[in-house]
Amino acid sequence: MKNNSSYKHSNKSRKRNKKINRWIRVTIIVFIAVILSTVVLKSVDTMSLGTNKDTTVDNKDNVNVIRDDQKELAENNITINESDNVDNTSGNEEKLEDNQIVYLPLEADNNATDAREVQSRLTEWNYQREDNEKVAYLTFDDGPSEYVTDEILDVLKEKDVKATFFVLGSMVDKNDYAKKALKRIVKEGHAIGNHGYCHRYDVLYPGNVVNVDSFMADMKKSEDAMKEVLGDSFSTSVIRFPGGHGSWDTSAIDPVLQEKGYSYIDWNTLNGDAESQGLSSEQLLGRLKETVSDLEGNNDVIVVLMHDTDEKQSTAQYLSNAIDYLRSQGYEFKTLK
Ligand SMILES: [Zn+2]
Repeated sequence: MKNNSSYKHSNKSRKRNKKINRWIRVTIIVFIAVILSTVVLKSVDTMSLGTNKDTTVDNKDNVNVIRDDQKELAENNITINESDNVDNTSGNEEKLEDNQIVYLPLEADNNATDAREVQSRLTEWNYQREDNEKVAYLTFDDGPSEYVTDEILDVLKEKDVKATFFVLGSMVDKNDYAKKALKRIVKEGHAIGNHGYCHRYDVLYPGNVVNVDSFMADMKKSEDAMKEVLGDSFSTSVIRFPGGHGSWDTSAIDPVLQEKGYSYIDWNTLNGDAESQGLSSEQLLGRLKETVSDLEGNNDVIVVLMHDTDEKQSTAQYLSNAIDYLRSQGYEFKTLK
């Protein structure tokens, strides 16, 4: 019995142990399950929450990052610009060169004549000077041209002659060659007149009558294009009407120009480079001689119309001989300011 009871006892205790074991196992499983589920739930929770939070933060951060980028970019730009100014020697040289571009005012320019005086001579057809000195004003319209202006400047330099360029703003805007040529014109002591921007008769002179607003706006646009290249201090008060002042009804604009201090310059002689295409340099010289002698007895002051547009290579080629011819006739050369 003892055995039995002990068996019973041991049997009982085994059963109890089994129960305990099961309880422990269940507890452990439940515990693990709880822990696992908590961890899973938490991680899912953190994940989703985190995503949301991150999104919010990210959005804010993105904004900040973008702002910072912009700031940085702005700062970098400043740095780049500063380093351009300070470190880039070629840029410096260019800037120095540009700083040397000084467009002398009339009073400071020995080669220049007051354009107003020449304007009245031209409008009054009075080309005789009291002192009988002969003065030629070489003028070049419609440039600068990347093909012709430099050649013309070379000849003028070689002959030590100063001229007046009636510049078209649209040509200046055309390319870097034209801009370079414009700078060279000023650096080498020539004068600049304004020939407007568009050179369109239908816009400037509808029905052959000057439209004051269009005309003045066109002149300003052209001068602005030149300022872009020559600097804000540049200005010119000398203009040449596209097609010539004498070709249009200018009664409305004349008082405006006078009030604003502009002078307009037509011409009394020419080389014919706009009259027909492809004239040889000999023909151009012949035309110049013709127009100068046509004024015999009234030609102390001549204003010579020529063009430095892309197709006018022959004008560059004839120029040296033209200067020699005019010198042989007793002319000295001046500019208009
Ligand atoms: Zn023109």
